[in-house]
Amino acid sequence: MLKIGRKNYEALREHGEETYLHECCGVLLGQMDGEVRSVSWVARCGNTRIDSPQNRYHIDPRELIRIQREGRERGEDIIGFYHSHPDHPARWSPTDLAEAHWIGCSYVITSVEKGKAATTNSFELTGGDENDKKFVDEKIEVV
Ligand SMILES: [Zn+2]
Repeated sequence: MLKIGRKNYEALREHGEETYLHECCGVLLGQMDGEVRSVSWVARCGNTRIDSPQNRYHIDPRELIRIQREGRERGEDIIGFYHSHPDHPARWSPTDLAEAHWIGCSYVITSVEKGKAATTNSFELTGGDENDKKFVDEKIEVV
């Protein structure tokens, strides 16, 4: 389960509206407590996929390292990632799975329809390693 405060939840949805027709992306920081991941910080990232930003996203690894370091200073870990699907459903794509590498993390997808954030879903990346990883539907609790 992913627990997220109303403000952070709205912030990640609004990010998708701002970057529409392109995908937005970012990192979720917070605490992992067994099956519950609690978000305490939403870090926006630039989408570095200039070849196909309307249906792909990529976070610069240097930006990710900086976010991770700043999070640790606040006692937070990377617990998930988010991105948007402009005019596409809030379901993961085969590319999303192929490019997801953080097993145990949440992957949040917001569909943005005609510029308005619609559905937000979360999927936990599970499995032992790259070869048997898969996405499992995960409940989002907005608190
Ligand atoms: Zn996607």
